[in-house]
Order: sequence, then C-alpha cells, then structure tokens
Amino acid sequence: MTHKENKRRYGLSLRAVVIIMFLIDIAITGMLIVTMHKAIDQYDDVEQATSDFLTCQNDVYKVRDAILLLHNRTENFVYSGNTQEIILYFNEIQVQRNRDLGLENVKRYLGDDQTLKHLNAAIELSERMMDTQLHAMRLAVEAYNLDINKLPPALRTVELTPDELALTKDDQLDTARSLLFSKNYLVMKEQVDVRIDLCKNQLVAAMNAQHSVSSSRLKELLSNQRYFLVILTVALFLVMIFVLALVVNPLYRLISDIRNNSLIKTRGSSEIRFLTETYNHMMDNMERTNSRLSYEAAHDSLTGLYNRSSYEELREQSKDRNIALLVVDIDFFKDVNDTYGHTIGDEVLIRVARVLSDSFRDADKVCRIGGDEFCIIMMDVTSEITEVIRRKIASAAEILKTPKNEIPPVTLSVGVAFSDQLKEGENLFKNADKALYSVKENGRNGCGFYPSSGGAIQESV
Ligand code: GH3
Ligand code: MG
Repeated sequence: MTHKENKRRYGLSLRAVVIIMFLIDIAITGMLIVTMHKAIDQYDDVEQATSDFLTCQNDVYKVRDAILLLHNRTENFVYSGNTQEIILYFNEIQVQRNRDLGLENVKRYLGDDQTLKHLNAAIELSERMMDTQLHAMRLAVEAYNLDINKLPPALRTVELTPDELALTKDDQLDTARSLLFSKNYLVMKEQVDVRIDLCKNQLVAAMNAQHSVSSSRLKELLSNQRYFLVILTVALFLVMIFVLALVVNPLYRLISDIRNNSLIKTRGSSEIRFLTETYNHMMDNMERTNSRLSYEAAHDSLTGLYNRSSYEELREQSKDRNIALLVVDIDFFKDVNDTYGHTIGDEVLIRVARVLSDSFRDADKVCRIGGDEFCIIMMDVTSEITEVIRRKIASAAEILKTPKNEIPPVTLSVGVAFSDQLKEGENLFKNADKALYSVKENGRNGCGFYPSSGGAIQESV
C-alpha cells in the first residue's frame, strides 16, 4: 500500500479536528467578546439613566422651590413691608429664573414626556399665582406708604381699583394678606404640589420602566455569556479528549510497542496511523532483509545447503555431542566440468546436494564446504550405525549413477569418522578426511570409515 493510499484510508485527521475545534473556539470567543461589550454598554446605559433620573429629579425640585420661594417672598413682604423681599422676588423671576432653567433641563433629558406636561402645568399655575402675588404686593406697597418709583417697574403696572385705594392702610394690608389665603389662590398652590408630585411619580415610573428594560436586556446578555462559556468549556474538553485519544494515548502505546519490540497496532489519528504503518512497513522490510542476509550468510547460494562458516558453527555447537562426520567428494568432477561445461557441473552439484539432503534425517546437517566437497554432521549417533551410513551412501550412489535429463552420472567418495571413537589429540575432520583419502586412493566410489584403532580404512562400494 502506498503512502497516499494510507492517507486516504483514514477519515479522522488530527489536523482537521484541530482546525474545526479552533474555528469553533474562535467563533465562540468572538461571540463572547461581543456579548461582553454589549453588556458593558448596557450597564453604562443603566448608569446614565440613573444619573439622568437624579438630574431630572433635582430640576423638578428646583422648579418647586422657585414657585414656593415666590410665594414666600410675597408673604414676607406683605407681613413685614421689607422691600428687600420684593427685590429678591423679581431677582428670582428675571435673573435666577430657576423655574425656566429647571424646565429646560428636564426637557433636554426627557423630550416630550408626560413629566414635562405636569411640570408645565405647575409653572402655568405659578404664573397665575403671580397675578395674585403682584396684586397683594402692590396693595401692601400702598398700605406701607412706600415709593412705587423706587420699586421694580413690573410692580408699577399693577393697577388698584378705586375701592382698594379708598381703603384705610390697615384694610389695604388686610386685603393684601387675605389675597394670599383666598380659596382660589390656595387651590392653585395645592395644585402646584399635586403637579409636582405627579411629575416626580412620572419620573420614577419612567426610570423604573427604563431600568426594567435595561435589566432584562442585561440579564439576557449575561445568560448568553453563560451559554457561550459552557460551549467554550465543552469545546476545550473535546479538544483535550481528541488530543488524548488521537495523539497522546496512541503515542504512549506506540512507544510501549516499540520498547516491547512487538508489531505496532495502528490506532489514533490518521497522521499517527500513517506513521505507524510506515514504521511497520519499514520494520517488515528490514526483518525480511535481515533474514535474507542471515540466510545468505549461512547458506551456499548454489545448492541451498549450509556453507562452510555454518559448518564451523554447527561443529562448534555439536562438540559435546556424539556425532558422525561424513566428508563427501565427487569423483572426477573436473572432468564433468571439462566435458559438459560449468553450467552442467553446477546442475550436478545441485543434484548431489538434493540427493544427500534427502538421504539423511532433518536433524543431520548437510553442508557444502568447498567446490565439490560436502560434509554431513549426523547428530546424536555413535559408531554403531556404520551399516546405516553405508546403506544411505549406497542408496545415494545408486540414484546418482543414473543420468537425469542432461545431468551426467557421478560417483561419490565418502570418508566417515565418529566422535565416540575420537582419541585424545585427534581431529574428527582430519580422521574423516583420511578415510576419504583412502577411498580415493582405492579407486573412489566408496565409503570408508576411520578405524577405532590403527590406520586401515574399511572400504565399501
Ligand atoms: P577427485 O576425484 O580426485 O576429487 O577429482 P576431481 O576432478 O573431482 O578433483 P577436485 O575434487 O580437486 O576438483 C574439484 C573441481 O570442482 C575443481 C573446480 O573446477 C570444480 N568446481 C569447484 N567449484 C565449482 C562450482 O561451483 N561449479 C562447478 N561447475 N565446478 C566447480
Ligand atoms: Mg572431486
């Protein structure tokens, strides 16, 4: 499987998951920030509305105090004759103008509102009360014998009836005082209080309504923030779970598999799966290469038998066991090469190798130690099996003496030595080789055994 195919096979890519979660987090964080800003704006609105309410309330009190002040100045003058009260009265109307200023302020904050209507009505009533106040002050000026020309011109325009002028000073003063307690005047004064109260109530109601709207909006925004925070927290948890499931855990298991030298199971995100499969693929290739190289290092490339170095190793491994060592050499093999060519010579070597392998047990090790020379190590046997070996060699020779396809017949010379007959200072291979040499010397095509005593070699065909 190619890397591209690997990549296509798995859907859950870590990069895709991270990008999706990142976008979700960005979107939610964005919404959270917008909502927070809106909530702050809303809080500012509530604060501004409260401040506006307090300002309006002060202005309403300012209007009420100014109306009351006009009445008090009038009353003070009528009872005391102190012209300072008249001056302060007109100062309030012409200079201080607290009623007008209060109204203007309220207008600025509320626009055309029910509160303004009540405040206007209170000021209109105050204007009407002023007629009575000026009349009373004018009568008092007469009663106190004051010079009208030294008083504000507006007071001079107030005309007294002949009857009033004809009254005695005391009666004029009584009339002036009674004007401020007339039913009509008192009703107006009371109406001013009523209008001011209505105005205040209206202001409180408007303020409450605005607070209620702002509070519910604020609540809505805060509740949205709570949802966004919950979603954000869940998204963060999901990211952590995904990272744990797709990266951290698979990496830990991968490391543990590598430490245990076991095949790595594919798990986790597509990226980690891809890496795992690539690793497994490389390990598989390496193992196959290693086993091929170690096979090649241990085996003869032509015949597939153990080679010389394997023979040495096998000999070393079997040095404490009872074995029979057979040294086999093809007779006149040079002639085979010369007559039939090197390729056919190779075929002969392969055939001999196969016949020898088939003739012995699996436990016995058949090796090619040189050109046409073979060694067979028969494991766990003693010199008692001489006959068995002789029969095996005879049957192999029987096969090989018959040509097969283009492969010519050959004969073998075999020398055998047993480890159970090996004497101190002797070499098993040399003994077998001596036996072989003896066979060669005695006409070849035979099997010779290194004797347990003396130098004669037993021959057999
Ligand atoms: P003898 O009966 O005394 O053993 O005579 P011989 O001709 O077999 O002599 P010897 O065993 O010394 O000759 C071995 C020959 O094997 C020499 C070499 O040309 C040949 N040979 C060695 N390796 C190979 C091989 O891999 N392929 C082929 N075709 N021939 C080989
Ligand atoms: Mg030979």
